[in-house]
Order: sequence, then structure tokens, then C-alpha cells
Amino acid sequence: MKAAVYYGPRDVRVEEVSEPNLEPGEALLKVMFCGVCGTDIKTYLRGHPMFEPPCILGHEPVGEIVEARPGQDAVARGRASVGVGDMVAVAPYVPCDNCRLCLKGRQEMCASKAGIAGAFCEYIRIPGEVVAKGVLEVPEGMSPRVACLAEPVACCLNAVEATPLDPGDCVLITGAGPMGLLMLELCKARGAGEILVSEPSKTRRMEAARRGARIIDPRAEDVGDRVKAETGGDGADAAFVCVGAADALESAMASVRPGGSVNLFGGFPGGSRVMVDPNAIHYSEIALLGSFGFAPRHFHMGMRLLASGRLDVAGLVTREFALDDVCLALDAGASGEALKVLLRMGENE
Ligand SMILES: [Zn+2]
Ligand SMILES: [Zn+2]
Repeated sequence: MKAAVYYGPRDVRVEEVSEPNLEPGEALLKVMFCGVCGTDIKTYLRGHPMFEPPCILGHEPVGEIVEARPGQDAVARGRASVGVGDMVAVAPYVPCDNCRLCLKGRQEMCASKAGIAGAFCEYIRIPGEVVAKGVLEVPEGMSPRVACLAEPVACCLNAVEATPLDPGDCVLITGAGPMGLLMLELCKARGAGEILVSEPSKTRRMEAARRGARIIDPRAEDVGDRVKAETGGDGADAAFVCVGAADALESAMASVRPGGSVNLFGGFPGGSRVMVDPNAIHYSEIALLGSFGFAPRHFHMGMRLLASGRLDVAGLVTREFALDDVCLALDAGASGEALKVLLRMGENE
């Protein structure tokens, strides 16, 4: 089968590799589409400690189950309901549900996750644990392209769940890439009042404005001053920093009201250090939080939300490439000219 193999920064080659072999309890997914995520792009540009080359990137697959081996895992958990011929979205990893962090309800931080290998290829093996906890049928009528967003939506839901947000609250989002725009949609669905979006790219600002946000160009004005001005001097109730940049964190800290929260939702380059005024945390009780990844409940919620039509995801996927053009897909994502990019395997329409 064909696979896009990552050999190091800017070196991804489409090659013939052997098809995976299944163990009992496992399933084989014929990948139809796979989202290109910020993590894939970062790895392509500068490497990533989690991805040791050579390996296959991609973790947002949607496809058809073409083979399923009976086995303990899926059957014992009563989740063998997904079978051959079903179109499904697959979570890239699932928690063990047994470790200290899982038992404390922090499954996204599980240290013993089971997961799939990279999905920028024609077929992937789905381990039994993932069959049991991380495979969701694509709801009737939903495009498989939209179903690829279940994982990114799940990551956003994890962040929204971790951040205090009351109906009518004012939210600041820094960064209007695909994740920032999804976060904007989720904040709307969660009942946020005014949403301000800070983003240097004009096209991305326009996309945020089209979705009802007030927009800020951080290169033209001070984000904190503008947010204060828009909120009668109070500041935002919560800020989601959807970009790993020190100035974005600093402007978010300067934008939230006393008792508000700042959630670092984008990863920073390794070795990053930022200046934070500890008194903003002490005297103003500003909570500095972070969110990464998702738990199975977020994946389920994400799929249900996508099926409900409450999220305006039209216009979020702006480019689609064949597997052979994986480098063009990664370049399109990296340049910022596209929003969400998808890879299409085979002849799918
Ligand atoms: Zn992702
Ligand atoms: Zn665990």
C-alpha cells in the first residue's frame, strides 16, 4: 500500500509499504480522508519529540472498516457494534482508564494510552483498545470530510471544559487558524456573549468576523487596551491562546478581568520562556491554564456537535490534496494560506 513516510524536517516521501497484519480484536481501516493537523505541520517543518523518523504522520482519519478480527477487547466491552462496511472516524489514541490520572478523570493525560500509527496512508490497523473506545460511526448524512474534524473539535472541547465560561461571558481568542476558528464556534455554542479574536492575517481576521467575532489586528493595536475598551474597562472573562507565541500569552494576560482565566491551547516551541507577572495571578486571581489532547468523552461530544449542525464548519476546510501530494498539503498548511487541509486517499469523491 501507499504511505507518506516522514524521514525528517521537510522530507516526506510517498512509498510502497507493507499492509498491516491484524491480531485478534483489531480492525483494518481503509482511510478515505485524513485531516492535516498543526502537529503534522510542526513536525514537517522542524521535527517533533513525539515523532521519531522514519514514521507515518496523520492522526485524524475517517474511512471504512474493511476487516475486523473477533477478539476479547471489542466483544468484552460490548462495543463490537461497529463492523465491516461501516464508515467511521477513529480517535488517534484512547486512555487506559486504569491509571491514577485516568481515575482522577484526566484521561487526556493518561500515561498508558493505546493508539494508532500514522494515517497518511491507505490502510491502518486499529488496535483492540481503540476499536473498543475510539471508533465512532460517521452519522448518516455527514460528509466524511466533516467527520475528520471530530478530533480537532474534541481537543477544543477539552479546553472549553477546563475553562470557566458562563453564558454571556466575553471571550478573547488569539489566533484564527483552524483551531482558533473552531474554538470560536464552540464558544458560541457554549453561550459566550461577545467574542474578540486577535489575528495578524487579514484573511483569517475576515473569516473570524464572518463568524460573528469582533476582530483585532495585534500588529496595529494593543490587544489588552482594545479588549478593555470593548468591555467597559473590565476585560474578558476568558482567553484561549490558540498560538504558541509569547506575545499572544502576554496580551491574553493583559486582556482578562480579575478572576478570569487564560488557557494555553497552542503548543509553544521547546525551550520557550515567557514573562508573566505573578501578581496578576495573586492579586487579580487570574487563572493560567493549559489544555492538550482529549478524552473519549470529548470525541463523542465532538461528533454529536458536528452532527447537530450547531457548528458552522463550512468554509473551514479550504484545501484538499491527494496522498501523492502530501508535501503540497503540508506546505499549504504551513504557509497559512489555507485553513484546514485534508488528504484524500484513493479515488474518494
Ligand atoms: Zn489533530
Ligand atoms: Zn490511564
